[in-house]
Amino acid sequence: MEKVFGKVGESIWKFTGGDKSNVYLIDGAKKIIIDTGNRTYRDHLKNFMGKAVDFDKVDVVIFTHLHYDHSGNFDMFPQAQFYASPEEIQAFRENPEGTVLDAVVAEKLSSIQILPLPKELHGLKVIETPGHTVGSICLWYEKEKALFTGDTFFRSKMQGRVDLPTSAPHEMKNSIMKLIDVPYKILCPGHDY
Ligand SMILES: [Zn+2]
Repeated sequence: MEKVFGKVGESIWKFTGGDKSNVYLIDGAKKIIIDTGNRTYRDHLKNFMGKAVDFDKVDVVIFTHLHYDHSGNFDMFPQAQFYASPEEIQAFRENPEGTVLDAVVAEKLSSIQILPLPKELHGLKVIETPGHTVGSICLWYEKEKALFTGDTFFRSKMQGRVDLPTSAPHEMKNSIMKLIDVPYKILCPGHDY
């Protein structure tokens, strides 16, 4: 699928990795990246996103979860503080490869400090949505009525897989229910399914 990069909101940029996962930039008072994509399209991501942001100036990277296609390019942002949910960090400690699904990326990720996400960070409210993984989260950006859903919820396929090593299949339904009343205008899923 063609790689595309463009604005989807006032301050929100999206790099479309198609089925290979999306990367978002919130270009506000803080420069925030939501998910860092798959290493297989690293050069594309550098070229496209490099036009909108200086990678050294990215303050914060938030992972919706730690699968390799969402965490793969974390090292493009050398000055950033990294965040994931406490549950996802715990899963990574217990089972790095099962949490990342790629031994190489898991090894690289173990070299950085990933901080536990507070309930709200720089205007982004965390919605805990275990299911796809035990520590999966969605992020609600009230200011632009944008909802970042990682691999929990997509446009056409209602929900993400729950058959992976750190999935929590019994919690998925409850997690999806949490999203139903969110009055989003911009949906920012992890993949364009
Ligand atoms: Zn995933």
